[in-house]
Amino acid sequence: MKVDLKNYGLNEQIKIESSIYSGLFIARVTEQHRDLYKIVGENGEMNASVSGKLAYQAARQADFPSVGDWVMVDRSGSDFGNAIIHHILNRKSLLTRQAAGTANDQQVIAANVDILFICMSLNADFNLRRVERYLTIAWDSMTTPVIVLTKSDLCEALQCKLDEISSVSPGVDVVVCSSKDEYGFESINTYVKEGRTIAFVGSSGVGKSTIINRLLGQDVLKTRNIREHDDRGRHTTTHRQLILLPNGGIVIDTPGMRELQICSGNLSRTFEDVAEIASGCKYNDCSHTTEPGCMVRMAIQDGTLSEARLESYRKLQREMSYDVLS
Ligand code: GDP
Ligand code: ZN
Repeated sequence: MKVDLKNYGLNEQIKIESSIYSGLFIARVTEQHRDLYKIVGENGEMNASVSGKLAYQAARQADFPSVGDWVMVDRSGSDFGNAIIHHILNRKSLLTRQAAGTANDQQVIAANVDILFICMSLNADFNLRRVERYLTIAWDSMTTPVIVLTKSDLCEALQCKLDEISSVSPGVDVVVCSSKDEYGFESINTYVKEGRTIAFVGSSGVGKSTIINRLLGQDVLKTRNIREHDDRGRHTTTHRQLILLPNGGIVIDTPGMRELQICSGNLSRTFEDVAEIASGCKYNDCSHTTEPGCMVRMAIQDGTLSEARLESYRKLQREMSYDVLS
């Protein structure tokens, strides 16, 4: 079966990069199960594992392929057994998180995601600090964030919440939707394009599966019925991790995606406003507490900066410096 890899996001840049590996074939990683990968090449799907050399040279977990990676393999189809992955092509973006129990090793969640839908429900899950965290993840990973506010049918003060959101996400697109009355799904669809890879983050229960199912046009992912204020449940269904959408576009939905936590920080982008104000402080190492000439304290006094935003900036800063997750 011939596969048009353009549907999977293959573009000129990747093709050119792949052309330097003569004798090898290009494929994209669609699933990862420990050491075994599922990949798709020009002649269909294959199982694959990494070459001894790649494994030997890998210094960190991030040196191994992950879902979304473009890889160079020794065959183009599965006729003669499992493929061997020899190289990983340059990643346009890389979503990672702190590997459990280790100090600094980062676990790769997905590669080459173009758009990160940051999902939050407009009722119980609504939390500006959470948005700030997810935005930081997006900037760090080099993906483009879009904030998706779900369950608008359960929200009363919508405008008020939108104002709050835009105060912490300057320059970021915000989409409001509800699966109850189909509201907003057209706007979501405008981000879905042929060859574009999108991924979803957000607490469990906010409606990610519901949106993905809507994009797929069928109930491929089981949506769980949970109580509205219980968002501690775990996502247990197993399913394809890289999915082609019927109208073009690709969704990556790995188990790790669902548990994505912050692990490193590009605070300056998420907190551009705070950083900008702080750049005016008299002292470079100003702690914004009691120093003279502190523009941050001044901004708080005259109301241009909220105490809560400064506090979340500090909190995130502390967490990052101690590698603490919450
Ligand atoms: P996920 O854990 O983020 O994938 O969330 P699901 O898509 O499984 O949705 C969790 C629950 O919220 C399910 O019971 C959905 O039916 C419900 N839900 C999803 N979207 C909406 C919405 O827009 N409005 C309302 N009222 N409920 C929704
Ligand atoms: Zn200051």
